[in-house]
Amino acid sequence: MTLLIETPRDIPPVDEVMRDEKLEDALQTHGHAMVLRAVRNTLADVREALLMKSDATTTSAHYCCMNDLVRKVIVQLELWSKPLIQYVINATGAILHSNLGRAPLAASAAEAAYNAGRRYTTLEYNLEEGARGERTAAVEVLLKRLTAVESALAVNNNAAAVLLILATLARGREVVVSRGELVEIGGSFRIPEIMEESGATLREVGTTNKTHPDDYLRAIGDKTAAILKVNRSNFRMEGFTEEVALDTLATIAHQNGLPLIYDLGSGCLSRTLHDRIFEEPFVPDATASGADIICFSGDKLLGGPQSGIIVGRRCYIEAMRRHPLLRAFRCDKMTLAALETTLFLYLNPSRAHKEIPLLAMALADEDVLEKRVSSFINALNEADVPASMYSESSIIGCGSAPGCKLATPVVAIDPTLAPNPSTPDELLRELRTGEPLVIARAGNDRALFDLRTVFPEEEDALLQRLLRILA
Ligand SMILES: *Cc1c(COP(=O)(O)O)cnc(C)c1O
Repeated sequence: MTLLIETPRDIPPVDEVMRDEKLEDALQTHGHAMVLRAVRNTLADVREALLMKSDATTTSAHYCCMNDLVRKVIVQLELWSKPLIQYVINATGAILHSNLGRAPLAASAAEAAYNAGRRYTTLEYNLEEGARGERTAAVEVLLKRLTAVESALAVNNNAAAVLLILATLARGREVVVSRGELVEIGGSFRIPEIMEESGATLREVGTTNKTHPDDYLRAIGDKTAAILKVNRSNFRMEGFTEEVALDTLATIAHQNGLPLIYDLGSGCLSRTLHDRIFEEPFVPDATASGADIICFSGDKLLGGPQSGIIVGRRCYIEAMRRHPLLRAFRCDKMTLAALETTLFLYLNPSRAHKEIPLLAMALADEDVLEKRVSSFINALNEADVPASMYSESSIIGCGSAPGCKLATPVVAIDPTLAPNPSTPDELLRELRTGEPLVIARAGNDRALFDLRTVFPEEEDALLQRLLRILA
């Protein structure tokens, strides 16, 4: 049985490996088909390794026995059973982290999505009439209460919202937009390209830094279908700049019988958050300024599930509801359930501020953060791990409020002097394997942990993980 496998001819047949008693548990857990695939995979790997080896590089590492084979099969099966989308603790201080799934949902919103996923729902069912209902009715009812708009619609994301709006209102015609707003947003979302996909033609006006009312007026003609305003996400313009105020733009549009479309990017529905990070427009202000169609993301400053929300005049929204693209862009039931619950929380702002993680994190009190950080540091110091408090800043992230830095005390660890020493980069790499997974950043030769984006209930798991590695 301890026969060494030294050449491809020594590799045992698949059946023989499958009969090994050490695979009995794996067969129970993973099923015959999956174990068979793992065995074939492993044998192919071993064969390849043996064929690749030249005499010069032959070492004991190239040999294996039946036990090694079976162990490799089990490791392979464990690897395959792990989901690729794994839970992580976000200690980076970027509240909306593009690569970590943007906004975490409020517990009640996540629960609504869970329940909608597991059972039948009234997604498109009108209980009173016992007949077909409107898919986004709940979202519309809540948005009307929150922003005093005539109508509302939800789609998969804000990029889809912009495309649907332009395809519905401006296909084959022109849309006037300022050169200063032809933005590219992460993941290569470019307004000019979206415009082209929609079949509308871009009519650029003004210069990169300045656009005047006259620029818009001169561009309006027979072919004009709408004026578009795009919020400058991801960057700030400073210095010699000028843009046309939203209400002036609305007047220009309406005097010419055109709708004003406003792509807000991040949709902020919390007055308190808006006051804190003034550079992002407040959705109710935008609607009050006379924009006819406004769209924004559900998973940026709103703190809900990935979605795109369109609010505005009924006639335009009704046209979008009838557009064939809506079928391709419509949200699924879990998203709509989470979105409804998130919007519902906004009806009671103090509850929203507590329960929607994005709001709780962005509005976190600095004193409270400081207390959390110093007790975390004390616990590390007690185990002889050198750590101290640094003044840093957290960011909103995802291009929202690009100039906004939230002053934040962070835990700065010097792992080189810990009982079990390592460099900051080694520590950060180790935290990206094992459990729980932790994503943090380096700075000033330290590993930095921003507790603003760590949920209080995750704090102990993070501490224990660090102590296991360093103490
Ligand atoms: C983020 C953003 C988008 C795209 O929104 P997604 O929800 O990511 O699709 C479009 N326009 C602006 C101005 C944005 O900031």
